[in-house]
Amino acid sequence: MTLRKVNELVVPAYSGRAVEVRRRQVLRVIDREGTQIADLVAARRDDHTEVLDTTRTRNILGRCVLKSGDRLFSNHRRPVFVIVRDDVGRHDFSFAACDARRYELGFGVSGHPNCLDNLTGALAPYGFEWWRVPSPFNVFQNTPLQPDGTFGLGAALSRPGDCLELLALMDLVVAVSACSQDLTDVNGRNPTSIGLEVFDVD
Ligand SMILES: [Zn+2]
Repeated sequence: MTLRKVNELVVPAYSGRAVEVRRRQVLRVIDREGTQIADLVAARRDDHTEVLDTTRTRNILGRCVLKSGDRLFSNHRRPVFVIVRDDVGRHDFSFAACDARRYELGFGVSGHPNCLDNLTGALAPYGFEWWRVPSPFNVFQNTPLQPDGTFGLGAALSRPGDCLELLALMDLVVAVSACSQDLTDVNGRNPTSIGLEVFDVD
């Protein structure tokens, strides 16, 4: 599989960006500085009612751990992506995006930057309001299910330059937030940027 880069952008810390990815293109999500979560959502480009669906993906895979070669599914139970490269091997698709209420209720902080606002802003040109933004795939998030049924809350295991590559199986609008959580250890208490690259596959 030969990759030819056709687009690249940086999602600055505490923000979100959208990118269009065509069927048979590869989206590379890069942790540029390490220990940084990237919340990722996707919708079909020609029908925004079909979205990447974390709940149905857990249901179809029968687990809440992702492996290279796994397909990620839509709310129509169609495959949206297949994981073709995974440098880290630890991601989450059980948590909601962090949102303003999370910081108000959990930390007593109002107006904190958050992934739901970042994703909503990135998707605004496509007509998404906040309540239509699906629950994200949390790339690099290190919150594994524990034997007692609780989730761990560890710092992301990704090192600078580590990436996840997703082969798109339909034409998509993808939005990614560089997670703004700086009040727990999940981003090493130092949120940084995420790189996005899109490749044609020869
Ligand atoms: Zn977040």
